[in-house]
Amino acid sequence: MKTAQQYKDSLRERNVRVYIKGELQDPKTLIDHPFVKGHVASAAMTYALANSKDYEGLCTATSHLTGHKINRFTHIHQSVDDLLIKIKMLRMISQKTGTCYQRCVGFDALNATYSVTYEIDQKYGTDYHGRFKKFLTYVQDNDLMLAGAMTDVKGDRSLRPGQQKDPDLFVHVVEKRDDGVVIRGCKAHMTGMVNSHEMLIMPTMGMKPGEEEYAICCALPTDAPGVTHIFGRQTNDDRKCGGDIDQGNAQFGIVGGECLTVLDNVFVPWERVFMCGEIELSGMLVDRFACYHRSNYGACKGGVSDVVIGAAALMADYSGYGKASHIKDKLNEMIHMNETIYACSLACSCQGTCTAAGSYYVDPLLANVCKHNVTKIIYDIDRLAQDIAGGIIATMPSEEDLRNPEIGGYVEKYLRGVESIPTEDRMRVARLVENMTGGTALAESMHGAGSPQAQKVMYAKLSGLEEKKKFAARIAGIRGSEE
Ligand code: SF4
Ligand code: FE
Repeated sequence: MKTAQQYKDSLRERNVRVYIKGELQDPKTLIDHPFVKGHVASAAMTYALANSKDYEGLCTATSHLTGHKINRFTHIHQSVDDLLIKIKMLRMISQKTGTCYQRCVGFDALNATYSVTYEIDQKYGTDYHGRFKKFLTYVQDNDLMLAGAMTDVKGDRSLRPGQQKDPDLFVHVVEKRDDGVVIRGCKAHMTGMVNSHEMLIMPTMGMKPGEEEYAICCALPTDAPGVTHIFGRQTNDDRKCGGDIDQGNAQFGIVGGECLTVLDNVFVPWERVFMCGEIELSGMLVDRFACYHRSNYGACKGGVSDVVIGAAALMADYSGYGKASHIKDKLNEMIHMNETIYACSLACSCQGTCTAAGSYYVDPLLANVCKHNVTKIIYDIDRLAQDIAGGIIATMPSEEDLRNPEIGGYVEKYLRGVESIPTEDRMRVARLVENMTGGTALAESMHGAGSPQAQKVMYAKLSGLEEKKKFAARIAGIRGSEE
């Protein structure tokens, strides 16, 4: 397994092409860029904790392929217990980072691809699963971080991939050669991509006859020739170029450091291609990946909300109203909601089942309910955090004002709450609430792992509405409905 330092060093060795605010970055120093370094520190926690005595139980596993001790983020779930340990691990890491550590996307993509390649081979007699196991062994033995690359940019949402005026709006195979394929297109919202070693490309949705070129699953290094990453902006990100107080979470940043990844005629050798035209199973790969990732959200956002709840409570203490009954009531409401989403993550994992490949898969209906709850509950938790923290989170002067020799004294004197608490501490917590409950963080809870409508679509497939109608018809005594 890599240490956190080895992970960071290995990122500098990539010849990755990344643009930030219109400027091409030097690959050697990319991870020191103020916009990137917090996300790297957060991802590095997945390495550091696996190497620590206290957390190796949660953060490591035994490879079912090699028997080696591996980082859990490269593991294929071998039991319901593995699914549950993952959930506990995610909540724990979120409590330490207060933000996304990005590595679950690749983890989920590995698990989805593992089981689906097996089923493609069963149906078509192909050898994708064997290829994938070789790739997986390489990932496990080198403790690599993968970006899971599913979401295409999709252009006009009313049109299928082949109907778009520009065929590149969905990633597709533009050439099949003896030695591999050439792909073109663009993946959006790529969490952790610029600080990953590899990306695992998957189709963005189930493909139909005639859309075979879009049913592509393959792996490539993040610095493969033809790949360009364009880093996304976040709310308040220019604050990262100043002091640390105004950032809120200066150490780990907010959310995952997403980017747009352009694939401009990228060559992928056959040994790294895991689906190529098998449209009938493309939807299964999308569903498996989506459900694994949706199952995480009650745990990862649960841990993040543990920090938000703590920050709101600290703000109340620092301001002198921590003992007020309405504050305690609001904190209890937040705790209730937070444990509710965590319970959903545990539930869909408890109900996990074995796939044909022998790996374990979460209960898909409950995984969607889990993520869907997050799209609402996080807004309610964050609303209460802002309610408790007060208007100061929206109007507070800057760290520069606090440090200014002429007016710093005013800030120090007039922003003090409880006498025993330094003004700077109160400012730090106020900024933490502001940033953790602000624009980019909230939007991620809504759209990460798929927008709410994507979860509702799954209810139609999974909830058994016709059976519910039969239950009702029988109880209502409708003729012909008897069992
Ligand atoms: Fe992991 Fe949560 Fe980040 Fe997704 S949003 S990669 S589940 S920490
Ligand atoms: Fe996410």
